[in-house]
Amino acid sequence: MKIKPGKTIHSPHLISSSWLNIISKFDKSPENEIRLPQYYAYPPLINSHDHLIGNWYPKAGDNAPYTTTDIWVEEMKESQPYLERNKIWINDGKFHLIRGNALLLADLGIYKNIFSGCAVVQDHAPNQVEEYYRHFPIEVVRNYKQCHSISLGNWWGGKTAKEEWQETRGIMPFILHLGEGTNEKARTAFARFEKEGLLQPNTLIIHGISLTDDEIKKCGAAGTSICCCPKSNLFLIGKTIDIKACLEAGVNLVLGTDSTMSGSINLLEEMRIFRDNFPEIPLNQIFTFVSINARKALFLSDQYGELKDRTEELLLIRKKYEDPFENLLEANPEDIALLVHQGKPIYGDEELIQNFQISDADYSEFELSGSKKIIIGDPLRLNHKIDSILGYHKTLPYLPFS
Ligand SMILES: [Zn+2]
Repeated sequence: MKIKPGKTIHSPHLISSSWLNIISKFDKSPENEIRLPQYYAYPPLINSHDHLIGNWYPKAGDNAPYTTTDIWVEEMKESQPYLERNKIWINDGKFHLIRGNALLLADLGIYKNIFSGCAVVQDHAPNQVEEYYRHFPIEVVRNYKQCHSISLGNWWGGKTAKEEWQETRGIMPFILHLGEGTNEKARTAFARFEKEGLLQPNTLIIHGISLTDDEIKKCGAAGTSICCCPKSNLFLIGKTIDIKACLEAGVNLVLGTDSTMSGSINLLEEMRIFRDNFPEIPLNQIFTFVSINARKALFLSDQYGELKDRTEELLLIRKKYEDPFENLLEANPEDIALLVHQGKPIYGDEELIQNFQISDADYSEFELSGSKKIIIGDPLRLNHKIDSILGYHKTLPYLPFS
């Protein structure tokens, strides 16, 4: 068997029951094509909201729930996990993420995403130099403008929200946290946001917990996307945005993890939390939040979010459940048989990755649930580097080894 990325995948637009027919087609395929009936294939997932350097653990937020995360942001800066993380890298206020050890932290965030089948992640931070984005083996969205939030402004770097939005020229997303709370300041944030002309089709609102029905309808009408990070929202505030109202208003809804300082350990867990809290929403619709909806919100090319006849983006997951969407939601790092980005294997089973022509020096291996996994780079070594700086072993729950 030889896998030839870019040549062998024939698929429907989204996985569906017809996918089973596709699998059987593979069974009859000539040699040099994929014959993998024991797996389901998906487009790699898209995480619409993360803070790569913030994926430390455990969570900060001893006084949760809060009436606004503005309080949490300040508390977090004094919290034990944050102070421990600062032993690796302290932000000098300039947010230059290629300086000092910031890349060690960002790499941890990248592995969090890889081990949950993501090939694309939006790293909400001030725009970085090209070198930063080129450093990573998966796509970290680089074409965007942002503001931290309406309530706190761009305290971490960048221009005013209005200036940043103007610089998008409508051809890239404008991203900001909005209405992350229930207090007066959070409830009036949308009005300020709208008044500043930010209710736009290329705006991606993160959280939007305080948005009223009418405000959500305005987002739907404007084509504004909204990202829900259920774990982070439930933990910090005790509620999410009104999801039912979002769907009724036709909002382009997407999912994100936020960092592990407030959110879940990865996007797969985030999808499970969403399902558990909104069991009335079909699993195939939840799938759109991490695929085609996310592609639209982040202005990604059409190679992402759905499988194509000729694809260089692929996620294969061991088949444990008959329903392909349930199979995806219940997956864990050990179930990911193959993640391919730009035709290059990123993570998966040795028996699959050995079919690619790769340079061994670029990869490392480890045992997981009795099978040998191959991963791009060396997360174990990264963990050791973190340990050597701290002077003790640090366990991070999204790395599937201890
Ligand atoms: Zn965030």
